[in-house]
Amino acid sequence: MRGDIERVLISRERIAERIRALGAEITRDLDALGPEAEIVFVPILTGSLLFIADLVRELPRKVRITVVTVSSYPGTSTSAGQARIIGSLPDNLAGRHVIIVDDILDSGGTITLIRGELSQRRPSSLKTCVLLRKLIPSALAIPCEYVGFDIPDEFVVGYGLDYDNYYRNLPEVCTLKREVL
Ligand code: 5GP
Ligand code: MG
Repeated sequence: MRGDIERVLISRERIAERIRALGAEITRDLDALGPEAEIVFVPILTGSLLFIADLVRELPRKVRITVVTVSSYPGTSTSAGQARIIGSLPDNLAGRHVIIVDDILDSGGTITLIRGELSQRRPSSLKTCVLLRKLIPSALAIPCEYVGFDIPDEFVVGYGLDYDNYYRNLPEVCTLKREVL
């Protein structure tokens, strides 16, 4: 697996450090809502699996987690395909503060889809948190309250992000050698 890596973009240590800071920022914002506020995190599977696991452990207060699964075309190294929701969406979000969590903001299709669906369920507030955001106009145009890292427009894997469902278990965010793709 490691032989397939071209370059490490973000080390394990930098990811951990940034998630601690994001956790502190989110905690401050949640505390401002008061102790009675009900919080629901909605991670988008499968890419945000590692991120959500590390992020929620930085939060000292009670929160709920309800996953959503979005499909993409298997094996592709672009996200040109239309995002599609698999299975059901969380219900009973009315009156709750909802934070959508995803691995990466690229074309923005996934976040736009989920944000639109969840906003119809009348949450008290609706925010988005992504680990990575590509520095491209489509991604920068999407409202996103919490961003871990802005990265160049390259295809990355690791820390939950896949190529053909592999490489999710790499602890770093990396690019792959051209011959692997
Ligand atoms: P968007 O809908 O914003 O175009 O893309 C979001 C989804 O596409 C992400 O959740 C991720 O699954 C996939 N994606 C976009 N860019 C990358 C990338 O650089 N690497 C990987 N592994 N997946 C990506
Ligand atoms: Mg993916």
